[in-house]
Amino acid sequence: VVTFYTREFGKLEAVASGIGKPGSSLTGALELFTLSKLFFAKGRELERLSQAQVIEGFPSLAGNLRSYAYASWLVELTARATEPGEAAPELFDRLLTSLRLLAAGLDGALLTAAFALELAELLGVAPVLTECTVCAGELVGPAWYNAPAGGLVCAACHRDEPEVWELSAGHRALLQGLRTLPVDRLPNLRARPEETAAVLGLARRHLAYHLGFTLKSEAFLRQVEGD
Ligand SMILES: [Zn+2]
Repeated sequence: VVTFYTREFGKLEAVASGIGKPGSSLTGALELFTLSKLFFAKGRELERLSQAQVIEGFPSLAGNLRSYAYASWLVELTARATEPGEAAPELFDRLLTSLRLLAAGLDGALLTAAFALELAELLGVAPVLTECTVCAGELVGPAWYNAPAGGLVCAACHRDEPEVWELSAGHRALLQGLRTLPVDRLPNLRARPEETAAVLGLARRHLAYHLGFTLKSEAFLRQVEGD
């Protein structure tokens, strides 16, 4: 049983038999990070993959450990955070564009942070970034990200608790940029490595906290990032 993410039907699990056969059209399409046109036949319980045509592969992702780690994280997150049969074409397009940018050599840190924020928004758990999550007041000066509160908290509402950390105005501007910039404009975003690392940590922590799971590829990603 193989899990696919499709534009029309969202996540889809299907039986793929005959993969190992020489000349089978299915083999290439079952490579990780491969865009394919798939044909399914109705099976007794699950769909059965009957034919496949590879449209676009990303072999460069397999050749670079960092890109591979980020790509793995993106697809695992998509698989874990979505339900079978729930189509989300915008998420599909976002994932595809993200994989293309990764394969083209864009650093994955900003890309995955932006993807995490986009997914949080689609799932209705977007972090509150433009005002204080607690009092709805304006954020002036330092602010804190508070995971249980679900977003940024002002100086007056801030309490020293676990899962809370301080963010500079630069961090907040970068977060806003990641949230609002179209994915194909991400390569234009300039950020200092420490800001990128802080914002990436926040986006990943926010998702893990509000979705209630940690991805298997998270540990791999941390290793690659030298965390
Ligand atoms: Zn407040």
